Amino acid sequence: MTRAVTLIRGDGIGPEVSDAVLEILAAADVPIAWEEAVVGQAAEKREGDPLPASALDAIRRTRVALKGPVGTPIGKGFQSVNVRLRQAFTLYANLRPVRNVEGVASRFQGVDLVIVRENTESLYSGLEHTVVPGVVESLKIITEVASTRIARYAFEYARANGRRRVTAIHKANIMKLSDGLFLDCFRRVAEDYPDIAADDRIVDAACMRLVMNPESFDVLLLENLYGDIVSDLAAGLVGGLGLVPGANLGNDAAIFEAVHGTAPDIAGQNKANPTALLMSAILMLRHLDLPAHADRVEQALFRTLREGVKTPDLGGATGTREFAKEVVARLA
Ligand code: ATP
Repeated sequence: MTRAVTLIRGDGIGPEVSDAVLEILAAADVPIAWEEAVVGQAAEKREGDPLPASALDAIRRTRVALKGPVGTPIGKGFQSVNVRLRQAFTLYANLRPVRNVEGVASRFQGVDLVIVRENTESLYSGLEHTVVPGVVESLKIITEVASTRIARYAFEYARANGRRRVTAIHKANIMKLSDGLFLDCFRRVAEDYPDIAADDRIVDAACMRLVMNPESFDVLLLENLYGDIVSDLAAGLVGGLGLVPGANLGNDAAIFEAVHGTAPDIAGQNKANPTALLMSAILMLRHLDLPAHADRVEQALFRTLREGVKTPDLGGATGTREFAKEVVARLA
């Protein structure tokens, strides 16, 4: 059965990495009918809103999207498209598996961790105001409902995927009420999962341990802002942002996207690594219950990297388009 999936190419390197992924998935005969929705700069120019209603309607219909990065101008203007999408569909869980890939040099070996980031609240609530000129207040919202929901997701994920431990990361020694509530909810939920070990670490200490012994972590559970920061840190452990996929999951929709942003410094130069978006697409194929297609694409990708075909971010000289062709050649 062919599945309809919304495609958002995005800004910056988004169109390049999206085209590479589409070429590979087409060559792998994935039964997907793509419905493109225009989001980002092009939508802003055309419709005055980088996230127009037509795009939201498209996702509401297909319930699954593959999305390239969409930029967020710093400081002014529109609220982040990424945050709006997560809030519009209550995509409360952001899942980011971080693993060493054979053939890719990195400081560490044996890294195999999964970041579960709460995706709807904390400092991303967008509640900021000027109290008096020169004084700004930004509100960090933590609720029992969202903290319990994400903790349960992390333990369910651990159980379903043969993981042994969930570590909650927080700053409850300083933010006693907000991070304290997050941690309390985690501990309460952990009681329902005696088969999965549960522990917690303060975020600063966790960062040090991540860069010294990353292989000691399994599933990491973080509120929104810590999840954002620690995801990039974790990407650096295995070779960079070109390698880390992501899934934004809710009860009614799922949006698959790489951890990286629009990378304006290399946009339009055929240099971007499409691996992170391709890995996100592989997560999507599993979500769509197409495991054989997912395995086939993943094996071709891993073979390509193992055989030394790499984009410049990984020390290679292969362009985005040429990399896609190399993966296609290994699909057979
Ligand atoms: P944005 O504002 O959209 O987040 P950014 O440049 O601040 O953009 P990223 O896009 O995440 O943040 O890029 C950070 C760095 O990582 C840049 O130097 C970029 O070139 C590099 N990078 C990110 N993604 C890739 C990729 N897919 N392939 C190669 N390099 C990448």
